[in-house]
Amino acid sequence: MFRRLAISFGAAASIILLIASLVIIYEVHYHLMMFEEDVKGFGESSALVHHFEQALLSSIIWTAAGSLILVAVISYFVAKNLSRPLVQMRKAAEKMAGGELEVRIETIGNDELNDLGTSLNELASQLQKQEEARKTLTADVAHELRTPLATVKSHIEAIEDGIFDPTPERMSGLREEIDRLIYLVQDLEQLTDMESPQFTLKKESVNLGELLLKNAEPLKASFTQKGVLLNLNTQGNTVVEADPKRIAQIMFNLMSNALKYTPSGGRVNAEVFEEIGSVVLAVKDTGIGIKEAELDRIFDRFYRTEKSRNREYGGSGIGLTIAKKLVDAHCGDIWVESKPGYGTAFYVRLYK
Ligand code: ADP
Repeated sequence: MFRRLAISFGAAASIILLIASLVIIYEVHYHLMMFEEDVKGFGESSALVHHFEQALLSSIIWTAAGSLILVAVISYFVAKNLSRPLVQMRKAAEKMAGGELEVRIETIGNDELNDLGTSLNELASQLQKQEEARKTLTADVAHELRTPLATVKSHIEAIEDGIFDPTPERMSGLREEIDRLIYLVQDLEQLTDMESPQFTLKKESVNLGELLLKNAEPLKASFTQKGVLLNLNTQGNTVVEADPKRIAQIMFNLMSNALKYTPSGGRVNAEVFEEIGSVVLAVKDTGIGIKEAELDRIFDRFYRTEKSRNREYGGSGIGLTIAKKLVDAHCGDIWVESKPGYGTAFYVRLYK
């Protein structure tokens, strides 16, 4: 690139110089001949004309030679200056391709080259973020899979070695661990689906109140089985533009959490009501509650409050992450209020 620019500059300047020199030589020679013809008796002093022409030719040759050297030097530096940012960008792009995503291009001024540098820097930081997210996800998934797999393996080994009898309780404990793995994989699939660029919402007019009543139906048996009372309530015009499948997913995640974290004898109120310009879904329970310090983190991927204790509830720590992503995709709000020992209320607001 740099060599091509230098050669182009040098060649252009040399051609201009050559043409100028030829024109000057030709014009001077032509006019001196005319002068000789016009001025009678001038022919005798043709030595003067000869020396004049020689002097002119020498000066032109020296000037041209000097100019060519100057042009070569200037072309070299101009071309070097112009191609430097491009060379820098090429090197940076090569490093990025090799996995060195922390490289950045120095951007000065506000021309097109600078814009290109800024775009490359943005590309690098996006790639860096994705790479970090990928590493964290892989580490988290490995961590989440390790414990249930180790438990299942050790139980099966103990049964094989005759240390444990395959009692129905042990077998159902094993099945629960396997169920947990299945839920985790399902949640991960959903999360991947939501984070993919192809993720789109299929919006239509949805009555959230009706959707709540319909989606609560299959959960009623589990509430009765656990001895938790489920109250459903809907008020006002609760129609919004939303993707019904995704909203059903949010409702399911919040209601199943409420059931999971509410002991027998407790109560869950799930309601949908109209507010000015929006519709709110509220899922309130009288369960174990969440400490204030943990409220900020429960929407983070894989976050579970007091993890060891919550293993008995069988959660993957992804349900709320999915709910939040779906609410964000609808440009809505999701928030939580909770008091340990008294209960928790999750709210989702979707705008009309
Ligand atoms: P999980 O599958 O573990 O329930 P979530 O992402 O749905 O994952 O929830 C994250 C954590 O937030 C849970 O592990 C639990 O500690 C806490 N949590 C969620 N909902 C409730 C609730 N209704 N009551 C108490 N704690 C809750």
